[in-house]
Amino acid sequence: GTLSIASMLAETARRYPERPALYFMGQATTYGDLWAQTRAYAGALAARGIGPGSRVAMIVPNVPDFARVYYATLALGSVVVPVHLLFRTDEIEFVLRDAGADVVVVAAPMLAEAAPAAARAEVPLLTVLLPADAAAGLAERGTPVARLEDEAAVATPIERHTGVNPLAAATILYTSGTTGTPKGAVGSHLAMVEQVHCSLIDSFDLRPDDVVYGGLPFFHSFGQMAVLNMAFRRGASIVLLPRFDPDEALELLVAHGATVFTAVPTNFAGMVEAARRTAARPPLRFAVSGGAALPVALLEAFEEAFGAQVHEGYGLTETSPSCTFNVTSEPIRPGTVGRPMWGVDVAVAVAEVEDRVELLPAPAPGSAAGEQSDLGEIVVRGHNLMKGYLGRPDASAAAVVDGWFRTGDLGTVDADGIVTIVDRKKDMIIRSGYNVYPTEVEAVLARYPGVALAAVFGVPDAARGQEVHAAVVPSDGAEVDPEAVVAYMKEHVAAYKYPRVVHVSADLPLGPSGKVLKRELTARHSAPAG
Ligand code: ATP
Repeated sequence: GTLSIASMLAETARRYPERPALYFMGQATTYGDLWAQTRAYAGALAARGIGPGSRVAMIVPNVPDFARVYYATLALGSVVVPVHLLFRTDEIEFVLRDAGADVVVVAAPMLAEAAPAAARAEVPLLTVLLPADAAAGLAERGTPVARLEDEAAVATPIERHTGVNPLAAATILYTSGTTGTPKGAVGSHLAMVEQVHCSLIDSFDLRPDDVVYGGLPFFHSFGQMAVLNMAFRRGASIVLLPRFDPDEALELLVAHGATVFTAVPTNFAGMVEAARRTAARPPLRFAVSGGAALPVALLEAFEEAFGAQVHEGYGLTETSPSCTFNVTSEPIRPGTVGRPMWGVDVAVAVAEVEDRVELLPAPAPGSAAGEQSDLGEIVVRGHNLMKGYLGRPDASAAAVVDGWFRTGDLGTVDADGIVTIVDRKKDMIIRSGYNVYPTEVEAVLARYPGVALAAVFGVPDAARGQEVHAAVVPSDGAEVDPEAVVAYMKEHVAAYKYPRVVHVSADLPLGPSGKVLKRELTARHSAPAG
C-alpha cells in the first residue's frame, strides 16, 4: 500500500494544485507549490542519507517550513520528531539522544538553544529561516550552519513519497513530562491516517473551501492532527500564527475570512476578550475546543461573541490525539466531550486499581436520560493508540493494560455513550479528606462577572493536607475583588470546595499550547519549604 500521512498531501496537491494550503505573513503557498518544495526538502534530506526508518528531529514554529520539513520526512518513510518549542538546551539534548535523531532541523530563532544540544548529542544540524547573509556572518565567526534551503536548491527532488508499512512509526511526540522524564509516544501511520479519515467522515465537517486558524502549535499532537493534517487531507487553507496573541489572531482571522477556529480554552478566553475591543468578526462556521476543560460559561460567551457553535473534544498525545468529540452534525452537549470517535472504545475503570483494568458498568442502554456511570478513570481502546513509549517497555506496559490505555483522567459515561471529563487524577485536590475537582470549581468561577480566565489548584497546607486556591484574570477594565469572589464561591459550591484564597493577576502561566500550568501556580503560591 502507498497510503501514508505524506500521501495525503501528495493527493491533495494533485487534486487542488492552485488552492492555498498556507497563508503566512500575507503570502499564500498553494498546495502545488508546497508539495514541490516538500519534494525538494526531501531530496536534500535523502542526499544526507535520510531514508526509511531514519529519525528527523525538528524545532520549528508554525511557519510554512514546519509543513515542508514534516511532510518531507514522512515522504521519505522516516520518522518525524517535532520538539517542544520551549525546550532548553539540556531538554533538547535529551530528546535528540532518546529519539536517536539522525539529523535535526532548527529554525533560526531556536539555534541558540538547539546548536549546543546538537553538538553535544553529535547530531548533524540543518537550519531553516536563516537568511543567507546571517548564515555568512555566522560562518565568518567560525560557527557555520548548513541551510536546508541551500541543500534543497542543489539536490534532486524526490518524485513521490516512499510507501510505508501502515504500522511503521510516523512520529515520536514527547509528552512534556508533568510526571518525570519526558517519554516519546510513538504514533503509527495507520493510527494517524485513520484518525484523520474517521474524523473527517464521521465527526468533523471540514470542507475544501474552509479557512482554518493555524495557531495551535504543530509540534503538539492537537495542532498537528486537528489542524495541519486534517486541513491538508481536505484541501482547506490554514492561516498560520506562530505565537498566539488574541488581537492579532482576531485580525488575521477577519482578514482571511476564517471559517474554523480550533484551539485550547485559554485561546477561547482570549478571543472573547479581543472581541470586546473590536466589532469585526470572521465568518466562522464552527469552532473546536480541546486539550483542557472548556467551562460552559466560556463556551456560551464565545458563541455569543462569534455566532459560532463550539464543539468540544477530548484526547491525548498517546491517542493520536482524539478519543471523543461533539460531532459537527448534531446539537452539542455543553459540558461533555461528546461521543467516542468511530473505531474508538471509551470506558470507565476503577481508578484505584493499578495493575489491571477493572471496568465499571456503563448505564444500561435505555436507562433514564442523563444516567451516568460511577466516576472512574477513563480508559481508551482502538486504532488511535500509540505503539508505545520509545524504549520504555515498563512505562508502555503500565499505560496499556489488556489493550486499554489508562488516560489518568477521571470521568463518567452516560447511557447514550456521551463522555464527561471530571478532571485529571493528578490535579484532584484532597482537602481534609474531601476530593475537590478543580474543573468543576473553575466552571462556577467562570460565571463570576468580570472574570476572563480562572484556574483552581491545590496548595500544601499543614492542617488540611491541601488548601483550595484560585487564580483569576479579570476581563478588560473589570475590577475583581478577591474577597468578593471568595464570598460568591462560598455561596455557590459546597463548603469543602470553595477557594479560600483568590489571587488576582494579569495573566496565568501557560504552556506553549496555551494550557494553564497548574504545577507552576501551586509552586508560585506555596509557602517556601523549611
Ligand atoms: P504532558 O505532556 O505534561 O503529559 P498533558 O498531560 O497536557 O501534558 P497532552 O497529551 O497534551 O498531555 O494532553 C492530554 C490531557 O489533556 C488529557 O489527559 C486531559 O487531562 C486533558 N484534556 C484534553 N482534552 C480535554 C477536555 N476536553 N476536557 C478536559 N481535559 C482535557
